[in-house]
Amino acid sequence: METITRSKIVDVLKSTAFGSTVNVKGWVRTRRGSKQVNFIALNDGSTINNIQIVVDIEKLGEEFLKPITTGACISVNGTLVESQGKGQSAEIQAKEIEIYGSADPATYPLQKKGHSLEFLREIAHLRPRTNTFGAVFRIRHHMAIAIHQFFHERGFFYFHTPIITGSDCEGAGQMFQVTTMNLYDLKKNEEGSIDYKEDFFGKQASLTVSGQLEGELAAMALGAIYTFGPTFRAENSNTPRHLAEFWMIEPEVAFNEIEENMQLAEDFIKYCIQWALDNCKEDIEFLNNMFDKELIERLEFVLKQNFIRLTYTEGIRILEDAVAKGRQFEFPIFWGADLASEHERYLVEEHFKCPVILTDYPKEIKSFYMKQNDDGKTVRAMDVLFPKIGEIIGGSQREEDYDKLARWAQEMGVPTKDIWWYLDTRRFGTAPHSGFGLGFERLLLFVTGMANIRDVIPFPRTPNNAEF
Ligand code: ATP
Ligand code: MN
Repeated sequence: METITRSKIVDVLKSTAFGSTVNVKGWVRTRRGSKQVNFIALNDGSTINNIQIVVDIEKLGEEFLKPITTGACISVNGTLVESQGKGQSAEIQAKEIEIYGSADPATYPLQKKGHSLEFLREIAHLRPRTNTFGAVFRIRHHMAIAIHQFFHERGFFYFHTPIITGSDCEGAGQMFQVTTMNLYDLKKNEEGSIDYKEDFFGKQASLTVSGQLEGELAAMALGAIYTFGPTFRAENSNTPRHLAEFWMIEPEVAFNEIEENMQLAEDFIKYCIQWALDNCKEDIEFLNNMFDKELIERLEFVLKQNFIRLTYTEGIRILEDAVAKGRQFEFPIFWGADLASEHERYLVEEHFKCPVILTDYPKEIKSFYMKQNDDGKTVRAMDVLFPKIGEIIGGSQREEDYDKLARWAQEMGVPTKDIWWYLDTRRFGTAPHSGFGLGFERLLLFVTGMANIRDVIPFPRTPNNAEF
């Protein structure tokens, strides 16, 4: 076959160089047609749209074309012509075809149209080849770029925090342990506990649940940083919003108080949503039509809103009023209760009909590092609550006072001996500072309109599932 520089289908579809010879390579979505002429819909992942390859059967031979079935990979040289069909502007009149790889129709799992999302999860190695997952993963890429762009434009530095950690202050009970010890032959010491001195790091180590503590160290030097990396939580919650391995974005800013932290969170989410609308139009339109007819409307709606800001205490009052008027919730509501997703979504979807930033939570249900208010009961926490999602961001102003931080950590039973370095920031040049964590896949749930978090990450890790 003649060697011609490969063009991406996304570019060929936009080209008007009719009459020129082009080469495209990709995977066959369908082949149909008559005894004389066949039409191959070819996709190479560069766009959700397929290019149509028109094949003169007599020229290439019926036998030759046989292996060109759904899923096969081919390379096509041909003439770019103006499309007669509606929709597409360009198609290719095939001159030569090379078959890289066939896909036996008897065993290729993506034969019929309209597989369920559940079935596609079982063939996660092939699902990127569907329109739906092609769209989702292209959007995922664009959102990652948007995030870096947003912070870079504002002078934040991308800071890499460790994935293996020796402290369990944040995630007591929900951390995955990292060890090289032989689990079949675990040595215990006199007290009957495991001697981690024998282990790789000489101490117990785990996968991180958050980069925040190290992020704070960086903010105390570089001023404004963000992390963007994988986080791991062994929480056994089989919900459509939790993964055991997910990606988190955590900005941390010196001198920001909670109001500036809220504004940063609101600006950040809106920037990402606007980016998606500007850069992923075709993919979002596809998802809108396939799964969620209100997706684009919802994205545009959120951009126009000023997020409602209210305190946890005010939120509880609204929820108690709702209960008094007969609204039923699965979990009880009272001051001091941790809000469940049903409560968060009531405030957002039914009461305010707008994203909400809830602040000043009871200190007992929040983390030890959050700045305490003067009332002695609440801390400067802020959760951003979104329609369809519930909590999308959790953050706070941090306690910068060494004595208060150390005292509260002790009262909460936090094992602070492992984080002497964290406490040191409060001893040496402490400063007010704030930050938050955005779950990348929760943002993607919102932007794609997908209903299950397993469908916005390529290879989900959840309880009993680590295939692929
Ligand atoms: P939730 O109450 O929903 O379990 P959380 O309060 O434990 O979340 P944080 O510790 O505040 O979560 O983490 C910050 C953000 O990370 C959350 O707002 C959410 O967007 C995301 N997140 C937390 N846990 C998970 C998870 N298991 N899977 C995916 N995203 C998560
Ligand atoms: Mn939270």
